Amino acid sequence: MGVGQPLGDNIITTSLDGLVNWARKSSIWPMTFGLACCAIEMMATGASHNDLDRFGIIFRASPRQSDCIIIAGTVTKKMLPVIKTVYEQMPEPKWVVAMGACACSGGIFDTYSVVQGIDEALPVDVYIPGCPPRPEALLYGLMKLQDKIMKEKNSFGATLGFGERLEPAA
Ligand code: SF4
Repeated sequence: MGVGQPLGDNIITTSLDGLVNWARKSSIWPMTFGLACCAIEMMATGASHNDLDRFGIIFRASPRQSDCIIIAGTVTKKMLPVIKTVYEQMPEPKWVVAMGACACSGGIFDTYSVVQGIDEALPVDVYIPGCPPRPEALLYGLMKLQDKIMKEKNSFGATLGFGERLEPAA
């Protein structure tokens, strides 16, 4: 049907934006970075039973090689400058996942020392509720991030320096 039939079954047509987005969503490399109990669930998600590698999601030990930061745990005001520094060291394009109630909203810690949501400091792409969220929830959140990446516009043009990469509206 449509443009596919005259080209036969062995040819796939796509846009350059689609190709760049597909490459990016298939190779999300999160920082190896955890803050509190949610980080244990994040580690479990990366381990063999849930196996994030099959999505191309591979943890990296350097922000210079990472394009995603999963805020897994309670964000204290003392830790916030460190998180910002790590985020700023990551190259563009980059994405932020707020994992768990603490990262999303401060959780049960409505205190003077805890940041009431990492979105006060970083542009969050995906929020994952729960205390802690199970590995399945983190997997679902990362798949939502993949969906979001696939909807980005001008990914190819921005790579060449023409205009900005346009993220889908929330
Ligand atoms: S959301 Fe719950 S499990 Fe996660 S860091 Fe906060 S207290 Fe710990």
